[in-house]
Amino acid sequence: MTAFEKIALHTSMLRTEERTCGTIYMVDENGKRLLIDSGDGQVALGFTPDICILTHGHFDHSSGVKPDWKQVLLHPAEFRFAGPHIKIPKNAEKNPMTPLMFGSHELSFFHTPGHTDGSVCILDKKTGLLFSGDTKFADGIYGRTDIGGSDEEMEASLALIGKIPYKLLCPGHGNLEEKK
Ligand SMILES: [Zn+2]
Repeated sequence: MTAFEKIALHTSMLRTEERTCGTIYMVDENGKRLLIDSGDGQVALGFTPDICILTHGHFDHSSGVKPDWKQVLLHPAEFRFAGPHIKIPKNAEKNPMTPLMFGSHELSFFHTPGHTDGSVCILDKKTGLLFSGDTKFADGIYGRTDIGGSDEEMEASLALIGKIPYKLLCPGHGNLEEKK
């Protein structure tokens, strides 16, 4: 199996050396695995996750989803918008956006459009990790808005993220960052 690096309780990340250099996150408790994003499919994970939550539908986050994965969640807005670079796995279901219990972790979802219409951020209350996809990166950088989103929506989403009580930002690309 490809090596995930531990970053918090039950939580690890895989920085892929793929063309798109994305990060896949995993919450792993009692033999069950939840993935946040799936990479671009160039990396062999060696296991089937119990749940995969996609932060958005861009191919470098969604192409790693395999047809036999049981539960794959994506924000409803991403289904109606087939923008550039969007790749929606056939087995993806609409994320109900209600809190999800996974083992002892409660994940809550925030709709943060701007990079794409259906981008989400995911907060794990137990660890204080915020999985921000391509909406917010370290060092004040935010996601491109010219491939399906808009600047106005991005501004509102970044303001929303500022109010989320997270401890560590875990973006879809690049470095992790403690909340300032
Ligand atoms: Zn993206």
